[in-house]
Amino acid sequence: MFRRAITLPFKLLGIPIRLDMSFLLILPLFAFLIASQLPAYVHLFAGNTSADNLTQGATPYLLGLIAAIGLFTSVLIHELGHAVIARIYGVETKEITLWFLGGLARFDDMPKQKGAEAITAIAGPITSILLAGVFWLLFRTPHNSAALAFVLGYLMTTNAALAIFNLLPALPLDGGRVLRSLLALRMPYIRATNVAGIVSRIIAILLGIYGLLNQELFLLAIAFFIYNAVTAETQYARISEGLEHLTVKEVMSTEVSTVYPDMPLSQFIRLMYYKHHTGYPVVDFEDNLIGFIRLRDASQFGENQEDPDLDTKTVADIMSKAETAFETDNALETLKRIASSQMGRFVVLNQLGKMVGIVSKTDLIKAIQNQGRSPTQTT
Ligand SMILES: [Zn+2]
Repeated sequence: MFRRAITLPFKLLGIPIRLDMSFLLILPLFAFLIASQLPAYVHLFAGNTSADNLTQGATPYLLGLIAAIGLFTSVLIHELGHAVIARIYGVETKEITLWFLGGLARFDDMPKQKGAEAITAIAGPITSILLAGVFWLLFRTPHNSAALAFVLGYLMTTNAALAIFNLLPALPLDGGRVLRSLLALRMPYIRATNVAGIVSRIIAILLGIYGLLNQELFLLAIAFFIYNAVTAETQYARISEGLEHLTVKEVMSTEVSTVYPDMPLSQFIRLMYYKHHTGYPVVDFEDNLIGFIRLRDASQFGENQEDPDLDTKTVADIMSKAETAFETDNALETLKRIASSQMGRFVVLNQLGKMVGIVSKTDLIKAIQNQGRSPTQTT
């Protein structure tokens, strides 16, 4: 879902860290908001210490920026807390993304062991509580800088708030994952997800009403986020349940239109408009698969009818390597692979390597993806 994100040039614990555009916008906004509330914060955390010099010139904005960076760094450490525990269960974290509502860790999969999801989920809030404790200790250490008292006090409070907020029993927040995982100890996973889903929607609605009445836009945004994410989550559980026991053979389409490598592009483009497929396997005269050609690869040539390339170039010039699945592969695993591939559709082979069908991103997969998030994410 984070298409416009930049990846940091270093990894943490071997995990790529990405900053979504929305994060790059929210960071200065946060800094500004904190700066505008600075006198109140300083009064709260530094008491009677003279703080006049903190509210002058650029100082409030600098302190605001430090506090905002500290807050998002804390969110990042919270996510790393999840990642460390998931790793113990043998699940790798693909990436951690910071965006305007906080952080998201994307896993290869959710830990499957009973109760493992709960332990992985609770690791985040525990990390935040530990961080709050560290800042509390530093805060309590005698010093007479009002600026330091403000930064430490702010991070102590926000980390505690982060832990408490994430413990709300609403999917995809950590508390919701704990709830689902505990329910799944006593009932089938799909039912556990549905029950947790109902609880999550109620919480999202209450949070939304509260946010609306108090004009807390941030809470309102979180309520929407939870509501949408929980819909995707329950859908995914249903789809997984449905596909888990199927093979690719049972879901593939056997009507495959193929093209030959020596077909001129002009002809291919006409075919494309006529058949409306997004891609075609390329086969030789003995029906052996030799590549795959996508609509996208050819579309750059279709714009100009006069383009001399249209008659001189052939399918072979612009085709890509085909991505394949075996007909005996598990349908759910294959659809996950398709979802994270560039191709959008896989050519299905039998055990002899002969092409027997094609399996594409179905509307179901679109439902999982477009609903906002891949289901294996945690806040
Ligand atoms: Zn978390």
